[in-house]
Amino acid sequence: MNWEVAGSFRCQLGEGPVWDVASQSILWVDITAGNIHQFCPDSGSHSSYFTGQQTGSIVLEGAGQLVAALQNGFFRINLRDKTQVPIADPERHLPGNRFNDGKCDPAGRFWAGTTSVQDEPGAGKLYCLDRDLSVSVKIPRVGCSNGLAWSPDHQTLYFIDSLAQNVVAYDYDVVTGAICHFRTILEIPPQNGIPDGMTVDTEGMLWVALWGGGKVIRIDPATGTILHEISLPVTLVTSCTFGGKDLRDLYITSADIGLTGNELQQQPLAGSLFVCRNTSFQGYLPHLFVG
Ligand code: CA
Repeated sequence: MNWEVAGSFRCQLGEGPVWDVASQSILWVDITAGNIHQFCPDSGSHSSYFTGQQTGSIVLEGAGQLVAALQNGFFRINLRDKTQVPIADPERHLPGNRFNDGKCDPAGRFWAGTTSVQDEPGAGKLYCLDRDLSVSVKIPRVGCSNGLAWSPDHQTLYFIDSLAQNVVAYDYDVVTGAICHFRTILEIPPQNGIPDGMTVDTEGMLWVALWGGGKVIRIDPATGTILHEISLPVTLVTSCTFGGKDLRDLYITSADIGLTGNELQQQPLAGSLFVCRNTSFQGYLPHLFVG
């Protein structure tokens, strides 16, 4: 699959792409810079909103309305009037942690996990912001909470704790949001990179970004088989999602944070948003937050 660069801006730590069908635009975050970016591929227009703090992930709620998992908890953000309202901060007592990747489940709950800024093992948790705005813990010990995806039949949650170097699965109950029956889908050898963000396609296959591996891989969660690889011209590949009119364009985020001067010279596109257009695969629209 051929990639191209979508837009000309670069992120320190681009992450968490979300396709907004209403505005036919892709939104994503620059975690460390604290920005939410929005790019409309048809018009080429780009805008960004500075949250004022590290910005782990966003989900869509309504027109211009987002829920974000920021360094200091969950917030509602309105991109039109540029306002933000705090909802809950489950780790107010842990200033060394910040929120990281997150996504809505098929019932409209916002799942987002935390990570220790210093990569302290097991210091993070996977939380769920429910529709009544209550917060619960879904996984109590996580190293670096990352990719989330639900199977097309809504029976399975796939999850990545990057520090564990694997992709795991749980049985998932869409009515209650409960998860159980943990199992490992695929171990990623460290020399291939660190598993990061993830999305699912309509065939139920998982697309996993490999931080340090310069790739997105497509895997069959039933067998752990790697079915496809997309090589990018950058090493720090962070996440991906499908967008575009038919949800066949794969958008891929990347980072340049921590690269040496030499590496930056070799990877002038580090931090870019990439897109593989008109793939033979199709994704889903993101689940919206139902608050
Ligand atoms: Ca990530």
